[in-house]
Formats: sequence, C-alpha cells, structure tokens
Amino acid sequence: MKTILAIHTGGTISMSQNEKGEVVPNDENPIAEEQVILKGQINLITDEMFNLPSPHVTPEVMLKIKQRIMKAIDDGVDGVVITHGTDTLEETAYFLDLTLPNTIPVVVTGAMRSSNEIGSDGLYNFRNAILVAATDESYGKGVVVVMNDEIHTARYVTKTHTTNVATFRTPTFGPIGIVTQNKAKYFQELIQTEVCDINQVVEGVYLIKAYAGMDGTLFDAINNDNTKGLVLEGLGAGNVPPQTLPAIQRLLDNHIPIVLVSRCYNGVAQDIYDYEGGGIQLMKMGTILCQGLNGQKARIKLLVGLSDNMSGDELREFMGNAIS
Ligand code: ASP
Repeated sequence: MKTILAIHTGGTISMSQNEKGEVVPNDENPIAEEQVILKGQINLITDEMFNLPSPHVTPEVMLKIKQRIMKAIDDGVDGVVITHGTDTLEETAYFLDLTLPNTIPVVVTGAMRSSNEIGSDGLYNFRNAILVAATDESYGKGVVVVMNDEIHTARYVTKTHTTNVATFRTPTFGPIGIVTQNKAKYFQELIQTEVCDINQVVEGVYLIKAYAGMDGTLFDAINNDNTKGLVLEGLGAGNVPPQTLPAIQRLLDNHIPIVLVSRCYNGVAQDIYDYEGGGIQLMKMGTILCQGLNGQKARIKLLVGLSDNMSGDELREFMGNAIS
C-alpha cells in the first residue's frame, strides 16, 4: 500500500460558509478528517502545516513547504498532496516544481467552494489529488495541479476565473492529463528543466504590468538598492510604451535584471517588433526574454534563480529556457 503525505496549508478547501454567507477560516480543518475516502487503498499521513488564506502565503512559506517535502522524500513517502488556497496556488506549485527533485509525485489542489457549500469541490479534488499522487504514471511529471478532473503542469497552469470550479486552465499548451473513473491518465509529457535546491529566498523581486500610455513612474519607484529583479509584463508579443524607456534603462544601468513576458493570456513573448519600445529594442537594451511563463510564474522563477545566486549569463540562460 502506498504512503501519501497530505500537507494542508489553508485556503477555501479548509474554510466554511457562516450564517451570513461569508467564507471564513476554521480552527479545525474539515478536510483533514476525511481520510476514510480511500480507506484500505492508501496509507494517508496528514500534516496541518499552515492554515493560511493563500494571499497570506509568502516565498518563505513556500520554502518551508519545500523543506517539509524534502524531509518526506528522505522518510520514504511515495507521494505528496498539498492543499492550498487557489489565489496563489499556481505560484506555490511552480516554486515547488523549480526547487524539488523530480523523484516522487507532488500534487497541489484546492477548492473554489468551501467545505459546507452546496456543490463543494474540496473533498472531490482532494480525493483526486491523492489518486494522482498514488499513480505510478505520475512519476517524473514534475509538480502537477489537480482540480476539476484535470491534471495540469505547475509550470503553465493559471487561475482564470474568480469563482468557477473550472478555473484552472493551461493556456496555449493545455492540461497533460485527466482523472477519469478513479484513474489518472496522461496524454502529454513535460520537458524537464533545471532544479534549484535553494534554502533561502531573496526579497525585492517585483512584477509590473505595462498599459497604454504608461510612463516611467513605477519603474523609478523601485529603482533602489533593495530591488533585486523585475518581471515586466509587456504588451502583446512583448512591447512597451516609449515613455517608459528612460526609466527602464535606469534600472538596467543599476544592474537590476529585467525579465520580459507578455500580458497576453495565450502565446509566448517574442522579440518581433523593431520600433521605439518594441521587443527588439528591449532585447538590445539588455532585458531577458522569458517565453511561455505568465508574469507571476516568471517572477517566481526569477526569485528562485536569484535565490540560487545566479546572475549575468547564467540567470539569462535559466530564465530564457522556459520552453526549450
Ligand atoms: N481566497 C481563497 C484563497 O486563496 C481562494 C481559494 O482558496 O479558493 O485562500
């Protein structure tokens, strides 16, 4: 019988609706008591590690989860399930994907409806996540996110709807598998990338989204010695309004790495346009193109690379290889 470790961290999956209809955290996690669901098939160990709404989750919390999983791997568990609030689930999942060895299945799940709401999806997603973690085919898939009968890579999945249970989607690339008739089935493989076994996380890594008519104010506001890096969500294929360029140049002159992604939901950033503020000019100025990741994922990757003491060409290579 396989041993699966369930690490609970909070989120709607562990919350309940009160008489006023407000969704609130509980002292006792209602889902932790539901071990009966796979009784006799799986040895489930539970760790109530945190009870946080996911907007309260920080990189330090992510690092503690990573360290807990490393210990579980040493202890010989067969798989890990993490329950997490959905707002920042994709960031924690990707942090773990970048920092854990790809040795056992690690599955992240959550819920859009709290434990006592009609049609609550928490217990169902939790059960499916355990099934995926205990499936032999899940080895070597990297960290995956299981929600609403779909298996997504942590690298590309994103929350796309504020309340719908089908909120987690993988734009451009699609899910890699599904859960059907109590089985996990895979249809795609993930390209493996570098793992960074970090034990510290840097601060001062920011994310700024470009918009029509933008100027340099936000860039100048973070131009100080505490800033370690910036992810810039450019327009379209990866372009910015020309009025931002002097401030972007000042950040680069201050040796602050700037990673360029697209603010578009689909597709990848590319250096196509050769006009003032176009992607080609941004590349010539020294920004780093990161293809395939959204802004929040690129920020996690930059934070992990900087926390692993990367800089210069090594950091550029690490960030630029998102889909190669
Ligand atoms: N706001 C909640 C959280 O992220 C949403 C959820 O868990 O679905 O903690």
